[in-house]
Amino acid sequence: MENNIVKCDVCGKEMIKKKINKEVEFKGKKIEFKEIEAYVCEDCNNIILENNEVKMIENLLKALNQNKELDILNLEETADLLRVSNQTIYNMIKDGKLKAYKIGREWRFMRKDIESFIYSSSSMVAAKGGRGDKEDIDKIKKRLGILDDE
Ligand SMILES: [Zn+2]
Repeated sequence: MENNIVKCDVCGKEMIKKKINKEVEFKGKKIEFKEIEAYVCEDCNNIILENNEVKMIENLLKALNQNKELDILNLEETADLLRVSNQTIYNMIKDGKLKAYKIGREWRFMRKDIESFIYSSSSMVAAKGGRGDKEDIDKIKKRLGILDDE
């Protein structure tokens, strides 16, 4: 377990690790990042994001900038890929099972996040109401191109 003490670079106080919501403005659109891991200074409200979260935001903005549509999916495409209903996707977002980004009023999903979700097969079983099995997961992996056909 990692338990680094992070000092505030503004006031020097010890920062508290917690999950925050962050809004980033990009090309006139507001992108909402939910449950981002960050260190927060309760003294001066300074925020330092975890390195992997910074990288994730950078990657998303880069992908948006290059308009790499293939790497970013909308709600319907994500539901289709996972073979679940739109409502299930909303539930998964709410439960923190699937990372999603709000751009304006619309949800966007990164293929990477969907892939890592699929890799945790236990979440898959829960999302499908306990009826998911390995075969289903393998089928989805094949569709995503992350599992070779035998
Ligand atoms: Zn501070």
